[in-house]
Amino acid sequence: MFWNKEIECSSRNELHNLQSKRLHDMLLRMYNNVPFYRNKFTELGIHPNDITNVSQLSSLPFTYKQDLRDNYPFGLFAVPQHQVVRLHASSGTTGKPTVVAYTQKDLETWTEVMARSLTMAGISNSDIMQVAYGYGLFTGGLGVHYGAEKVGASVIPISGGNTKKQLQLMEDFGSTVIACTPSYAAFLSESILAEKLLDKIKLKIGVFGAEPWTEEMRSFIQNSIGIKAYNIYGLSEIIGPGVSMECECQNGSHIFEDHFIPEIINPDTGEVLPEGELGELVFTTITKEALPLLRYRTRDLTTLHYDTCACGRTMVRMGRIIGRSDDMLIIRGVNVFPSQVESVLIELAETTPHYTIIVNRENNLDTLEIQVEVVEQYWTDEMKVLDGLKKKIQHAIANLLGINASIKLVEPNSMQRFEGKAQRVIDNRKL
Ligand code: ADP
Ligand code: ZN
Repeated sequence: MFWNKEIECSSRNELHNLQSKRLHDMLLRMYNNVPFYRNKFTELGIHPNDITNVSQLSSLPFTYKQDLRDNYPFGLFAVPQHQVVRLHASSGTTGKPTVVAYTQKDLETWTEVMARSLTMAGISNSDIMQVAYGYGLFTGGLGVHYGAEKVGASVIPISGGNTKKQLQLMEDFGSTVIACTPSYAAFLSESILAEKLLDKIKLKIGVFGAEPWTEEMRSFIQNSIGIKAYNIYGLSEIIGPGVSMECECQNGSHIFEDHFIPEIINPDTGEVLPEGELGELVFTTITKEALPLLRYRTRDLTTLHYDTCACGRTMVRMGRIIGRSDDMLIIRGVNVFPSQVESVLIELAETTPHYTIIVNRENNLDTLEIQVEVVEQYWTDEMKVLDGLKKKIQHAIANLLGINASIKLVEPNSMQRFEGKAQRVIDNRKL
């Protein structure tokens, strides 16, 4: 196998030295080539030559998504256009899209971290890999694609959607790996069972990410189609998928710290938090050429763990993303993450992982409605039975969140399925 432990630094000390050198080099490139950063450093009286140790990172300023928007489209690039060989952009559902750029070397870095990621899940040149992330401006498809080719897998660039075709190729080509969002994986699992294809397919590994998902969702997918499901994390601003990946221990995702330095901060004060505490994940890219970012605020909430992993890798692990700080709903003063609702619904045998969370405000009071689809064998016309199920869900939600939700049960297969990132929250309040 390639790209395993030995290419990483053998000790945290060695890593620290590498990070210090790379951080300093990057700050110089920012200072010399990006007016936004040069102005910021000058304003704060910082000169890159004064920053020689990675332990000084917390004294440097943050970069926000808004900074990328304000400098749309190319304002933060640190290389001339002729060195940019690829552009991607985020969906841009809220305002202008965020544009990200890659030099040839950046693409090599991305391919490298993706190859390491896939190797961690045990994927090699004996695999046939169906890449069902969207190809295009979204970084998911192409990012996974090049990493998969690098490890020598036979790649099927099918992109997202067209579920019938996904199943047909899975059966005919004997795909052993599927990569897609966890919500699409849940839908594919259902479809495999509905079409009675389980005996005819050879899937054994899933590489799922690009949106928050829960341990319960992992068990649901693993148990329904008998694969091992791995969590992959990334964001376009930092490189795309492959910022971190789970190893065989499935106990947190290793961050490729020789390229991306993570910190966890208190999102309100900006203060760096001690190991293990929950807060906002912040990344500094130290090798990126086209779009280097300093202390980029991801808005993703998680924890970092520096103890040595049972797999032997020395790189830090991050916990699951419990949500984005902007995903968090405050309902009657209670903080609610969609992932908490998901964990309750999937634990119950009677409900599917297809649900919508609707928040309204009536007479100054927030109301929470959860619409959830019932599993075929539990669906009935008997109101009494359905009422019993509603009460059970209400009870479980109240136990976990401490608030009352009204539950609406909907018929099997009636809710929208997602081929990419799922949209599960409708907040109708004018806040
Ligand atoms: P956007 O969704 O902002 O258009 P991206 O496609 O780059 O941009 O998505 C990155 C975001 O997706 C991350 O910041 C994070 O919120 C989410 N994400 C990616 N992978 C995971 C994962 N494995 N678990 C939870 N969230 C993830
Ligand atoms: Zn590990």
